[in-house]
Amino acid sequence: MMKRLPFAFIALLAVILIPLQDVRAMTNKPTDLVPSSRVYEEVMYLSEGQFLSSDDANKFLPDAPMTRAHAAMMIGAALELNGKPRWTKFSDVPSSNRASGYIQSAVDAGVISGYADGTFKPNNTLNRGEMAMLFSRLDGNSIPNADRAGKYLMNQGIALGVTPSDFGSKQLMKRGDFAVFLTRTINPTFRLEGVMLAPETMYVKEGTRPALNVRKGPSTKYAVVTTAPAGKRLSVFKKNGQWSFVEVDGKYGFVHSSYLTKTEQSVTESDETPVVPEQPTPPAPQPPAPEQTKPVPPATNNADLAYLATRLVALDPGHGGKDPGAVGYGYAEKTATLAIAKYANEYFKQSPIQTMMTRTDDRFLELWEIGAMANARNASLFVSIHINSAASSSATGLESYSMKASSAGLERARMLSKYMQNRMVEAWPLPNRGVKTANFQVLRDTKMPAVLLEMGFINNKRDNYYIRTASEQKKMGRAVYLGTLDYYYHYEGRKGITSLYDAVGAKPSKRLY
Ligand SMILES: [Zn+2]
Repeated sequence: MMKRLPFAFIALLAVILIPLQDVRAMTNKPTDLVPSSRVYEEVMYLSEGQFLSSDDANKFLPDAPMTRAHAAMMIGAALELNGKPRWTKFSDVPSSNRASGYIQSAVDAGVISGYADGTFKPNNTLNRGEMAMLFSRLDGNSIPNADRAGKYLMNQGIALGVTPSDFGSKQLMKRGDFAVFLTRTINPTFRLEGVMLAPETMYVKEGTRPALNVRKGPSTKYAVVTTAPAGKRLSVFKKNGQWSFVEVDGKYGFVHSSYLTKTEQSVTESDETPVVPEQPTPPAPQPPAPEQTKPVPPATNNADLAYLATRLVALDPGHGGKDPGAVGYGYAEKTATLAIAKYANEYFKQSPIQTMMTRTDDRFLELWEIGAMANARNASLFVSIHINSAASSSATGLESYSMKASSAGLERARMLSKYMQNRMVEAWPLPNRGVKTANFQVLRDTKMPAVLLEMGFINNKRDNYYIRTASEQKKMGRAVYLGTLDYYYHYEGRKGITSLYDAVGAKPSKRLY
C-alpha cells in the first residue's frame, strides 16, 4: 500500500495540472453504459480491474474511436506494467503526457511499437488491423501482418470478421469493441464459440498459506472466485502479465504465477488447507423427493403473502441417474440441473411459497412419472430445468418453452415463460434465444402452467463455464425464484410481495405482455 502512495500523489497532481479532456486511467465505474449495451459485460469486467482509460473521468465513450495512447494505457494496465509518466524515446510523447509511462512500458514489453520517424502518434486512431496485430502479440503469438493477425483473432474466438472471410483490417476501431477484444484476449471465458486452449499441468507451490487465491481477473482488484491449497494440481491455459489463467475443480480464474511450479509437490492430503467453498453447499438430499415440504408459515395479514403460502411450485431438475442428459467438457446436464434446482429451492425457502422437487438426488425418473408427481400434489406451477446441447459448439444462449397457447392455462404458462426468460438473461450474460413453444412430454402431462427452461449449451465453451460454476448456478437458481415472483407480481397482480424482492436485493421486473 505504501509503495502506491507516490503514484497516487503524482496522478492527483496530474489531474490538477493538466486540463480536462485528456487521456486518463478510469478509477470510477463508467456511467454511460446500460446493462443492455452490447459491450457492457466486457467494459465492466475491465473496470473491476481498473484497466480502463478515457478522456472523461466517468464516461467510457464506447462509440468514440480508439486512440493509440488509450490502447497503450489499457493494455499496460491489464499487464500491470509501470504506468508512471516519464521520459519516452518518442519525440511526440513528453513525460507530461499521462500515457507516457504506459506507452514506454508497452514498447519495452514489445506489445506496441512506434513509427520509423521516431514518433508514436498517440492521438492517432487505431484500425482493426493494427488492433489485431497488437492483440496477437498480447495473446502470445506475434503476427506482423494485419490480415493474418485478424484471421488469428477470428480463429481464437476473440473477434468476428466483417464477413466470415474478411476481418476488415482497414476499418476504424471503436473503444467499445476494443474493450470487448481486450477482455476476450485476457480472459478466455469471454471468447466466442467453443475455442479450447491446450492446458499445461502445474501445482501450487508448497508453503503457500493459507491457500492461493483464484481471482476473476489478472489483478488483486478482482474478486476471489475460489482458492487452491498448496500442492493443488491446476490446469494452466495462458499467461497475462504476471498472472496465469487456470482451471481448478471446474472453476476458471487467475492466479499469480509466482505461486506455481511444474513440479508435483509432496504435500499430503492432510497437509492441505481446506478450500473455502465459494458458495454454501446445497443442503443434503432429503429423499424421498416428493415429500419435501416445509411447515405452513404462520398466518400473515398481508393477503398477497398469504396467497403465496397456498402456492406450490414444482421444481424439476431434468434427467438423472442412468440418464446424464447432455454432456460437454466432462460435465453432465443432470448435475447442473440438480444444482440449479437446489439453489432455486433455497431461495424459495425465503418466501411463503411451498416447493416440491421431482428429485433431490442423482436418480432416474421416467418422463411420465414427473408429470404425475406434480399432478398428484396439485402443484400451482411447474418448472423443468434443462441444459441444451447442439451439433455445433457455436450454439449458445438461453431459452424458455411452454406449450402452444390456446387456452387460459397455456397463456399463463406463456407468461411464466416470459418472466423466467427475462430473469435468465439477467443472470447469465448469454444470448437471449427467446420464448418458444414445444410439445415436450413434461409440459403436455402437467395440468398446471408449466415451463421448460434451457439454460445454455453444455458443449459451448463459454456457456459451459456458466453451467458448471457454482456461483453462476446460484444466480440461475435466483433467476428461477425471481421469475416466479415476477409472474405472481405482474400476471396475478400480487403487488403486496415486494418484501420478498427486498430480501434478496432485487426489484420486480418490468411488466411483460
Ligand atoms: Zn435436458
